[in-house]
Amino acid sequence: MSFSLSKELKHPVFEIVSEVTSSENIDAYVIGGFVRDMIMHRPSKDIDIMVVGNGIDLAGKVAERLKSTRVQVFKNFGTAMIRYNDLDIEFVGARRESYTPESRKPDVETGTLEDDQKRRDFTINALAISLSKSNYGELIDPFNGLQDMENGIIRTPLDPDITFSDDPLRMMRAIRFATQLKFHIDGCTMDSIIRNCDRIGIVSAERITDELNKIILSPKPSIGFKLLEESGLLKIIFPEMHALRGIEERKGIRHKDNFLHTIKVLDNISQHTNDLWLRWATVLHDIAKPSTKRFDPESGWTFHGHNHFGARMVTPIFRRLKLPMNEKMKFVEKMVNLHMRPIVLSQEIVSDSAVRRLLFEAGDDIDDLMTLCEADITSGIRDKVERYLNNFKLVRQKLIEIEEKDRVRNWQPPISGEEIMEAFGIQPSRPVGDIKNAIKDAILDGVIHNDRQEAWTLMIDTGKSIGLQLLPGFEKPTPLETKSNED
Ligand code: ATP
Repeated sequence: MSFSLSKELKHPVFEIVSEVTSSENIDAYVIGGFVRDMIMHRPSKDIDIMVVGNGIDLAGKVAERLKSTRVQVFKNFGTAMIRYNDLDIEFVGARRESYTPESRKPDVETGTLEDDQKRRDFTINALAISLSKSNYGELIDPFNGLQDMENGIIRTPLDPDITFSDDPLRMMRAIRFATQLKFHIDGCTMDSIIRNCDRIGIVSAERITDELNKIILSPKPSIGFKLLEESGLLKIIFPEMHALRGIEERKGIRHKDNFLHTIKVLDNISQHTNDLWLRWATVLHDIAKPSTKRFDPESGWTFHGHNHFGARMVTPIFRRLKLPMNEKMKFVEKMVNLHMRPIVLSQEIVSDSAVRRLLFEAGDDIDDLMTLCEADITSGIRDKVERYLNNFKLVRQKLIEIEEKDRVRNWQPPISGEEIMEAFGIQPSRPVGDIKNAIKDAILDGVIHNDRQEAWTLMIDTGKSIGLQLLPGFEKPTPLETKSNED
């Protein structure tokens, strides 16, 4: 029985492709992720049109009809793309691929619709809808992708050992789709991933990380991390995370499984943020627990300094995974480093100076840090969770009060190094830094206010106490230039 989706093909490009190809007697189909997402009522940003013929020629003709001038041609791949409104429409000729075991690159030849569907990764991604006039809208589903979609199954169209060996990235993609769609990986397909996991070694770090990022950005990333661990892939692509798993017991004292804890925290934070970097900070927040783990007969298991050591592990991990080595990485480092601080604050009677120091160090990232700390509470005991969350509410309240009063969140030193050098007639030297630090500490400890006059007086006193002489005319600070609103 044929299944028609002609009413669902609402975008004008489908009718246009149909007219152009019918007049030339060639067949074209919409295929892949767009079909899957359309049936599942998910938003889709790309349309893939597959033509049994020349994709570049077809793109040119369709662009003319769409009055779009934005056609990008990728001659080497035999594909072309039209950007139309917010959508990328890609045109490609039907292909057949053959691989040699040692090569990452397939030999690509012209093929039929069936050849093209066979080289797709999963049955749910191999669905095609005909755009030919004779059977416009007909679903062509040789591998029962529709049924797999209804049953929530990820399965390869061919023998999974062939599919995965041809392009081992597909193992990561299977786990990514299972995570994004909350689907189950079919038993044979999963067994094959376990058998073939070593093959991931021939795939570039960029492609692996692309999939890892998509797993991390899913609504419930723990699904993906559990599958990565189960399949043996995690140990290869991200050994530091694999090392978090397991529980040790000594003298009847056990520590928690830090892998399960980390992915629970990741699920928690995913309900509050879609920011990839805050999610990465969560993945890495306890990454140094295995290397800092000690057993102390008095106090049990300790992980002293795991936040500082963890922050130091961020750069090598980002480098290896080809993640950006820029301010995003710095942000992750900072979050990992500071992630214990609000917890300590919430357990003590909170002093103003401790809050001021935290605000100073976290700066504008304070809200993200608090979100991470709240997600970090994974106790199963409800009373305990509520007590911690209430303590964090108090810390947040205190942060607001102190910021209103002392403005240290984006703190700028009230006196510059230049001014200190001028006032004492000295060159750049250690005393300049010592005086700046004395002023900063006094403000953070609440000894003086964040105020230029008070800081100036402290500068004079500190300078004198280390044997410097104030030059005449520098007894008072010069007023800071303020910008006029009329500019
Ligand atoms: P998303 O847009 O969420 O990244 P997608 O599957 O919709 O996922 P692409 O990754 O662009 O989009 O892939 C488009 C289609 O191309 C897929 O649906 C699949 O049919 C095919 N495909 C992509 N990558 C592979 C691969 N490595 N092996 C086999 N087929 C693939």
